[in-house]
Amino acid sequence: MIIQRVVLNSRPGKNGVPVAENFRLEQSTIADTVQVGQVRVKTLYLSVDPYMRCRMNEDTGSDYLKPWQLSEVADGGGIGVVEESKHHNLTKGDFVTSFTWPWQTVAILDGDLLQKLVPQLVNGRLSYFLGAAGITGLTALLGIREKGHVAAGANQTMVVSGAAGACGSLAGQIGRLEGCSRVVGIAGTDEKCSILVQEMGFDAAINYKKEDVAKQLCELCPGGVDVYFDNVGGDISDTVISQMNQNSHIILCGQISQYNKDVPYPPPLPPDIEKIQKERNITRERFLVLNYMEKQEASVLQLCQWIQEGKLKVKETVVEGLANIGAAFQSMMNGGNIGKQVISVLK
Ligand code: NAP
Repeated sequence: MIIQRVVLNSRPGKNGVPVAENFRLEQSTIADTVQVGQVRVKTLYLSVDPYMRCRMNEDTGSDYLKPWQLSEVADGGGIGVVEESKHHNLTKGDFVTSFTWPWQTVAILDGDLLQKLVPQLVNGRLSYFLGAAGITGLTALLGIREKGHVAAGANQTMVVSGAAGACGSLAGQIGRLEGCSRVVGIAGTDEKCSILVQEMGFDAAINYKKEDVAKQLCELCPGGVDVYFDNVGGDISDTVISQMNQNSHIILCGQISQYNKDVPYPPPLPPDIEKIQKERNITRERFLVLNYMEKQEASVLQLCQWIQEGKLKVKETVVEGLANIGAAFQSMMNGGNIGKQVISVLK
């Protein structure tokens, strides 16, 4: 059977900025028959995520991430529908997902590696299983629960960087649902800041490309910062940490501003900021959502319940067509998306 797929065309280099041309769309073939234990799936949605930048390097820098190989199909979070099954637990028409979905239109996959999805849990919005009801939502929820020390009634102020991105837009809302009394976001455009405040219930948002972040934080967080959900690292995080309270907590979700640099993860703080962190006893422990997968099922149900109740507002940037996945990845790494970016493969 003839299919379309996207392969890694070239590597950007450890310190390079990834571009759409690092990926290549090509025609390929898959077997006409499905073996026992396998299913043939039609791809519906694919996810592009910042961690994939590390997979573009020959050495990803982490033991849990495998590098993509040149001229081989890329993979990541994906959703599809079963077209033919020889797996005991899957039948034609089932919606399924995997973290290692190949970037191709149709694939033959091992049924044991797929999770069945219940579309009703997300009001039929299947793509949410790649975002708010998937790994992104889990990252926001479990990051806050495992590392945030948020307590209802404790009058805590949370700051979120990368706040209009997939994780950040959920983290601020979940921080509020879990008990923070004040939530302030940091994002890169006025449009993003306005969406955070008007649609997602943030108390305030700072445009770091236009405003003085230190001055704005002082005004917007008069009691200091108790919890910092850090998606970006670098200068923004140094500025936030300078205004954190004694015994406060950083949720070290990601450091996207450093991903095109050959630095260790997590990148060390500059000496003056590290001094503040130590003197104020600010926790900054590494957080990796994959280490908490035993909590996946209950946490996804919690996220779905909030979505159904309208307590968790979801934003998506949907890009149509497998051919556009490289451009979508490039755009995401430059902050071009609002909320979660997904590729709709069928169109
Ligand atoms: P995303 O949707 O692309 O959002 C990232 C946001 O960061 C964008 O909205 C972008 O917009 C902002 N940004 C990009 N480059 C920046 C820079 N140089 N300086 C400041 N802001 C910048 O990505 P995501 O899926 O939410 O992921 C967010 C972070 O979480 C990433 O670092 C990712 O690696 C991490 N993550 C961690 C885990 C875990 O288990 N720890 C799991 C999933 C994701 P603006 O610049 O316009 O604000």
